[in-house]
Amino acid sequence: MSKAEMIVSALPQGVDGAIITSSHNRRYLTGFPSSAGTVLVTSQASYFLTDFRYIEAARRVVRDMECIEYKRQTEVLRELMQRHGLHTLAVEDEGLTRYEFMQLQSALDGVCLQGNILDNILKSLRLVKTRDELDKIRQAQELTDYGFEYILTRIKEGRTERDIALELEFAIRRQGAEAAAFEFIVVSGENSALPHGVPSDRELRRGDFVTMDFGAVVDGWHSDMTRTVAIGSCSDEQSTVYDTVLAAQRAALSSLRSGLGCVEGDAAARNVIESAGYRDCFGHGTGHGVGVEIHEGPRMSPLAGDERLREGSVVTVEPGIYLPGRFGVRIEDMVYITADGCVNLTKSPKELIVI
Ligand code: ZN
Ligand code: ZN
Repeated sequence: MSKAEMIVSALPQGVDGAIITSSHNRRYLTGFPSSAGTVLVTSQASYFLTDFRYIEAARRVVRDMECIEYKRQTEVLRELMQRHGLHTLAVEDEGLTRYEFMQLQSALDGVCLQGNILDNILKSLRLVKTRDELDKIRQAQELTDYGFEYILTRIKEGRTERDIALELEFAIRRQGAEAAAFEFIVVSGENSALPHGVPSDRELRRGDFVTMDFGAVVDGWHSDMTRTVAIGSCSDEQSTVYDTVLAAQRAALSSLRSGLGCVEGDAAARNVIESAGYRDCFGHGTGHGVGVEIHEGPRMSPLAGDERLREGSVVTVEPGIYLPGRFGVRIEDMVYITADGCVNLTKSPKELIVI
C-alpha cells in the first residue's frame, strides 16, 4: 500500500480524503522538497499540486501521485473536488494556521474541512520507518559519524565553540549532507552545563568538557548524535559523571524493544543517574523519534503516558547530567527498534576521549 492509500484507509467513514499542507508532511508523502504545494489524497487518486517553480522537478521525483501545476491553487482544488465528488476532507491542525484554514474553507465553498483527525494518522504512519527511509537515516548517521571522526582531529585548546561548530557543519555538508539537521550545539566548560546552549566565542581550555550535538539530512531524513570529549585532562569528578551518563545510556539501550513503554525506556536511563546521586541534573527526556523532522514521535520521557515503542521506529537515546556553572555531559545514539531489541545506527566510539 502506498502512504496515500494508508492515509485514506485510516480516515473515518464519511471523510472522503485529506489535504496535506505542512512542508515536512508534504515531503514525507512525495519525497519532494518545496516551499509551496498541497497533497490531496482520495480513495480514487492522489495529487501533488505545486507551482511553476517546482512542477518540472516534482514530476521527476514524485511517484504514485499525479503532479498538477497551479496558478491559483484553490481553483485546481475546487476542480478536483468536483471531479471526485468530495464533500468532507481532513486537514492538518499543526500544519495549518487558523488564518489559512479560514482561507481554504471559504475558497472550497460546499466542502467540509475537518480537523482533529489527520495529525494523528500522519504521526502514527511516520512512527514506523520503511526500509528506504531507514536507509536514508542510516546514510545521514554515517555522515554524522564521519563528522565526529573528522572534528576530533581539529579540536584544540584556543579554538572557539563557534569555530568548531562551523567546521563540523562544513565537513558534513562537504561530504554530501543536504543540510545540517539543526543548528549544531558545541558547548564547552561551564557552557556544557547548558543542554541546548548556543556555540559562543568561548575558547576551549585544558580541563574542559566539550559537548557536540549535531546531525545531517539526506533526502529529507535526519540524524542526531551527541558526544562529550575532554580537553587535555579530566578530573575524577568529571570522569565519574561521564561514566554515570554512559552507564545510563547503555542501560536504556539494552532495555529498548518493540512494546516497551516509553516511560520505562526513559526510566532505564533515569534510574542509573538518580541512584548515582544526580537526581535533579537530568531535566530532559531520554529520547525522541527522528525522521523528516529532527524531533518527532515517539517521545521517551516521564511524560510519555501509555505510549509504547513500535518495531520500525527510530529513536535517540540521550541521557545527560548537567551541573550548573560547572560542566555537563550528554551521550546520544540513534537506534532502530526491532521486535526483540534495537539496532544502534551510531557507530562512533563513546568511551571518554581526552584530546
Ligand atoms: Zn541531538
Ligand atoms: Zn536528540
